[in-house]
Amino acid sequence: MRRLVILGSTGSIGTQALELVAAADDLELVAISADRRWEQLIAQANEHCVRKVLIADPESAEQARAAWDGEVLSGPEGLAELIVGAEPDLVLNAIVGSAGLAATVITLSEGVDLALANKESLVVGGELVIELAAATGARLLPVDSEHSALHQLIASESGQAPGTVQRLTLTASGGPFRGRSRDELASVTAEGALNHPTWQMGGKISIDSATLMNKGLEVIEAHQLFGTAYDDIEVVIHPQSIVHSMISLADGSSLAHLGYPDMKVPIAYALHYPRRTRLELKSLDLAQLGSLTFEPVDNQAFPCLGLALAAGREGGTAPCILNAANEVAVAAFLDNRCGFLQIAEVIAATLNEAQIEQSYSFDTLIAADRAARRVTGEHLAALA
Ligand code: NAD
Ligand code: MG
Repeated sequence: MRRLVILGSTGSIGTQALELVAAADDLELVAISADRRWEQLIAQANEHCVRKVLIADPESAEQARAAWDGEVLSGPEGLAELIVGAEPDLVLNAIVGSAGLAATVITLSEGVDLALANKESLVVGGELVIELAAATGARLLPVDSEHSALHQLIASESGQAPGTVQRLTLTASGGPFRGRSRDELASVTAEGALNHPTWQMGGKISIDSATLMNKGLEVIEAHQLFGTAYDDIEVVIHPQSIVHSMISLADGSSLAHLGYPDMKVPIAYALHYPRRTRLELKSLDLAQLGSLTFEPVDNQAFPCLGLALAAGREGGTAPCILNAANEVAVAAFLDNRCGFLQIAEVIAATLNEAQIEQSYSFDTLIAADRAARRVTGEHLAALA
């Protein structure tokens, strides 16, 4: 039995992971966490026989304690207690945003394997996260579909000479606004942006997919996970989301990972690694699909990808600042406090004003995140 903790179990990734756990005979769920939806969390705990939960929001945690007889932790110390106390073999970090960084750091510090959906903690923590995993020997298993695909493709070439894998190609669906011009994007709404064509996801990543910031965060994630130079990572729009990623090899061949878009596949890959598990899913029918299409990114209409690439190349605290500004801007857009095009504008303005530090610690990152949030907030207030 593999002892598993799921952080962010009430979210899109979290609930799909719980379904996989219920169907698996080699995973024992030992703790779960959520931000504030305590009733749903306690219902999950009861259903999966879990006696230890964490609720980040202290008031919601209080309400849960009054209503439930299991152990309810809260706050930053509670997080360490949850992860260490549960003695897990594997932690799935499915928290959204840079709020997930602490869980990534605690898990890897303990030498515990990490199934990582929370791409933001890799964007923000960067080399520090990778070095922590290397120092403790904990495995970092990507849950993001493109990176899960790349993990598998790169592993298939692991016996080859260095340099065999030359380029990585990440596919992007293009989101709900693919094909629209910059002018047409000026009036799109949060409701329209939440309507993703191929994936059902949480609110924040849905907006990131609509702006293509998600792909930008993913390029940084791939750079960190696989140590690939930014010049050797490409992005291509592929609306059907059937090809999840591709690697190009020294002998001129390319390997791609294909399947219908379903996050259960990469989640199961990470939860059961290195064993492949059986999922009752349709296998790919190419004749029925008929055609797969690919097109370049429209950088004019979707500047967020370029902003992320520039921040990634700059390195240091730049990706952390980019991420913080994006989180604040996306929350404002979801709340109808700014327009779609202004998301990129306030992120660019925040990065322009920021002092990027090349050498950093986790404390530097927390300070940079906080300062960037304040600056982005000021830019948003100036728009109103
Ligand atoms: P979601 O909004 O549906 O769920 C987020 C979860 O995080 C919830 O359980 C929430 O309670 C919890 N949470 C939020 N803030 C927290 C905090 N401060 N402390 C503790 N818990 C907190 O998000 P999602 O779509 O499931 O995405 C989760 C992560 O997975 C994101 O980083 C996202 O980029 C990544 N991801 C998601 C998908 C997808 O299909 N949904 C695909 C690839 C990657
Ligand atoms: Mg992805």
